[in-house]
Amino acid sequence: MEQRSGRQERSKELELPVSETMKAEEEVQNNEEEDEEPKAKDQKLTSVFGVADLKNRAIGLYNVGLSCCLNSVLQVFFMNLHFTAILRRIIVPAHPAQKRISVPYQMLLLLEMMQRGKQKAVYPSDLVCCLSAYKVKLFVQHDAAQLFLTLWNLLKKQMKKPELVEELRDLYTICVQQHLACQKCYSETKRNSSMLTLPLPVLDSNSHILKTLEDCLRYFFDPEELTDHNMCFCEQCGKKTPFLQSMKLVHLPQTLTIHLKRFCFEQSAYIHKLSHYLPFPQELDVSAVLTENQCQADDSEKAAWKYELFGVVAHSGSTSYGHYCAYIRSLTERKWYCFNDSEVRQVSWDDVKCTYGHSKLHWGQTAYLLFYMKKRPQ
Ligand code: ZN
Repeated sequence: MEQRSGRQERSKELELPVSETMKAEEEVQNNEEEDEEPKAKDQKLTSVFGVADLKNRAIGLYNVGLSCCLNSVLQVFFMNLHFTAILRRIIVPAHPAQKRISVPYQMLLLLEMMQRGKQKAVYPSDLVCCLSAYKVKLFVQHDAAQLFLTLWNLLKKQMKKPELVEELRDLYTICVQQHLACQKCYSETKRNSSMLTLPLPVLDSNSHILKTLEDCLRYFFDPEELTDHNMCFCEQCGKKTPFLQSMKLVHLPQTLTIHLKRFCFEQSAYIHKLSHYLPFPQELDVSAVLTENQCQADDSEKAAWKYELFGVVAHSGSTSYGHYCAYIRSLTERKWYCFNDSEVRQVSWDDVKCTYGHSKLHWGQTAYLLFYMKKRPQ
């Protein structure tokens, strides 16, 4: 009942999910003893890779063993100039064996291949091979939201420079404050936490469809009463009491990632997809969407919550057999492209809107991840 109890689940997703990635990493940790690179090498890399970004040439990625999900997520990373500016400054591992298993390095190599190549698409084979060391397998239908988190955590773990890790965190991390208030004695506890994506339910607690992205956002930050079997133990009252649980938005990053929870888990472990119509805007002012009570931020922070849509990772097909592609608006050209594995074509905003979904087209394309980019201050 994932969608139905969407809000109860919030707390579970608050911490940056690392578990699977971390486990995989422990296994390769022995190989990971990288030395600080000599500076000369570092600089050489900058001169090789620091050419320019995709230079208005959008390059495709060949599908190697059901890698459409990875390809879509990678394109969203690569088209983000703020991200590539960080990636370019990584320390290059010293030894070939270390290079093979370094996700940041393999991503940088791939980006460089995409920029340098004259061909319309390149093979992400070395990166795919590298990721297999971290249990990101080929020929498996991945969940784009999970894969995004996995990649991000691997990048963060393997970028050796603390300042780059800090920049990566700043670029993507959403800060929230969780409030838990006893409804008998009104004592309240607060806890700050961070998330990489906002996992928005697309149905409310009565399984009614939320009509717009803005409705999903408001619903996500709505307080929730914990009563009956959901009651919590209150230390003041010395017993289980009803609580009011709420989450307030504290800070939004440069790149805001929204995960529309369209995959619905029924009790039978059968997952089905919610493909109904759910529009999202090209321009999003989060401070205008949320109420005063749903925020814990000053005016200058809230003034910076103005976003433009930058990317959409869309899923088509069923949960067991599907396909991903990415719609991305070039930050330099400001034109939309559809990245469908090796095929890249320029598209219109109307084409992007086709990912709003349709309740009668269960196999149709639906937006699954949304990436918003903070606007420059006016
Ligand atoms: Zn109490």
